[in-house]
Amino acid sequence: MVAATKSLPRRQFDVVVVGAGGAGMRCSLQLAQAGLSVAVLSKVFPTRSHTVAAQGGVSASLGNMSEDNWYWHMYDTVKGSDWLGDQDAIEFMCREAPHAVYELEHFGMPFDRNADGTIYQRPFGGHTANFGEKPVQRACAAADRTGHAMLHTLYQRNVAARTQFFVEWMALDLLRNEQGDVLGVTALEMETGDIYVLEAKQTVLATGGAGRIWAASTNAFINTGDGLGMAARAGIPLQDMEFWQFHPTGVAGAGVLITEGVRGEGGILLNKDGERFMERYAPTLKDLAPRDFVSRSMDQEIKEGRGCGDGSYVVLKLDHLGAETIQKRLPSIREIAIKFANVDPIKDPIPVVPTIHYQMGGIPTNIYGQVISTIGGESNIVNGLYAIGECAATSVHGANRLGTNSLLDLIVFGRSAGNFIVNQHPERQHAHQPIPQSSIDYSLDRVNKLETRTSGEKTQDVGNAIRMAMQHHCGVFRTIDLLKKGVDAIEGLAPQVENIYFKDKSKVFNTARVEALELTNMIEVARATITSAANRTESRGAHALNDHPERDDENWLRHTLWFSEGSRLEYKPVQMKPLTVESFPPKARTF
Ligand SMILES: Cc1cc2nc3c(=O)[nH]c(=O)nc-3n(C[C@H](O)[C@H](O)[C@H](O)COP(=O)(O)OP(=O)(O)OC[C@H]3O[C@@H](n4cnc5c(N)ncnc54)[C@H](O)[C@@H]3O)c2cc1C
Repeated sequence: MVAATKSLPRRQFDVVVVGAGGAGMRCSLQLAQAGLSVAVLSKVFPTRSHTVAAQGGVSASLGNMSEDNWYWHMYDTVKGSDWLGDQDAIEFMCREAPHAVYELEHFGMPFDRNADGTIYQRPFGGHTANFGEKPVQRACAAADRTGHAMLHTLYQRNVAARTQFFVEWMALDLLRNEQGDVLGVTALEMETGDIYVLEAKQTVLATGGAGRIWAASTNAFINTGDGLGMAARAGIPLQDMEFWQFHPTGVAGAGVLITEGVRGEGGILLNKDGERFMERYAPTLKDLAPRDFVSRSMDQEIKEGRGCGDGSYVVLKLDHLGAETIQKRLPSIREIAIKFANVDPIKDPIPVVPTIHYQMGGIPTNIYGQVISTIGGESNIVNGLYAIGECAATSVHGANRLGTNSLLDLIVFGRSAGNFIVNQHPERQHAHQPIPQSSIDYSLDRVNKLETRTSGEKTQDVGNAIRMAMQHHCGVFRTIDLLKKGVDAIEGLAPQVENIYFKDKSKVFNTARVEALELTNMIEVARATITSAANRTESRGAHALNDHPERDDENWLRHTLWFSEGSRLEYKPVQMKPLTVESFPPKARTF
């Protein structure tokens, strides 16, 4: 079935980018325009990457609607991160934001416009003027299809720049030499079932999120954390994996996302008594408090018996915005509500529940996207490897991401990594370094075991068990006891993943093979998440413990690092020092 190692077909590129979402394509554009040979791999057609589903907007302090500046944006992001974000990276992102957005505008991205021709901006959770004084309109939007507009713009630009796309190719493992330098990847061409060695002077992971390790998720089915699995297997730690964002408004029962932009436009959350309960929890920002805050408040309402219908959800009311605004600013939301909740929001409220949405943690990097491995307290750059976008922990989102800061993260750090590679490329113009056979064999062995196994566990069954275990043990509110049981459950499932098989061994576009390989990545993400969570005995951002309700800066103002081998943990300090301005010291987080 799978070719012997020595006969594996090989291709050589200056750079291999794994992932064609916003991050991957912003990076590849920079590389291709500079004349480098770039291969971009994607499991799906580029414009079907999850970025396409982003609705609400991309943040930048353009100040088109009222006064705004990058320093306020930086403060909001540090506070939103519950002080776990690295302040150098946050300063970099917020300063670059206006430039990065105008660049997209000049690429042809069809933003909504104000009457004076400037980009339309809407309010979003946690974005404020003057250090928390009042909400500010900072989210640049293309109706409720901002990610769609962004991804198509970037794809067209890449085609013009002659980026080479490998569509429906799945990267399997990183290839490394004895010094630990990354020299490319092994990859599966799904159409033929053939495995290739893709040699690269630089490899960029841009594989997006992994929300599919939960049963209820707003994420696309392809969000299985492949880049994280690849890094973990190569001995690279995963950072801050206990921090996962629940989006307050997933359609109850379906999980499909209703953008925060609805609340930005004036939509409100109500309990069964018709009370606008967020006024009680967050008197200043109300429905536009950050997501961790709103999700917990909703959960509380439901737990205390004020849920609507059967008691399991609250509702999002927007009929008061008027049919015209809904049709102009939120057309896809209306469509989603009609299709998935059977309600027309022009007349009736939408039933919603907090749903897993975004991973704040990931592969640790610096602001150039270079992957940083810290072992025994000593940090080193992993030569030849970069991570950008949702799979990376740069770390601008810390313990909780503000809405619209992710699309921003993609374009700022995608561009930054691209520039860095282009600028340092002359020194690395040398020939491709030899790839040790053992590195290739490791990957091939993994696949061969799957190919040859004729009995064992079914991928779907083990996958479901992982998703149910995460859903049950690692929700909006957590306890150490429950998390520890979750660690046992997930570690108990890990050997089953080693024993999965699929019956249909056909070569041509065999999705059973792809799903089995994806599961080997999902288990790494689940292990990292639950182990990191069970060991952090404080509440910070999205990690909320009933039995440790307070933030504990003395002991826990530090990043978690999880290593796959032995499921071992280390910790490293948060970068509290920005690039040029004064540090924002930790304080209580109220809204
Ligand atoms: C429904 C929804 C709405 C959102 N709305 C917003 C919003 O309004 N504003 C905001 O800022 N953020 C939003 N977010 C978050 C944001 O959209 C994502 O964090 C971001 O788009 C991720 O981009 P990315 O480039 O990192 O990865 P993705 O866009 O997820 O792309 C990942 C790419 O990696 C490829 N890939 C993965 N594994 C492999 C592999 N093994 N081999 C080859 N290719 C691989 C995939 O095919 C894909 O091309 C939203 C998220 C969701 C789910």
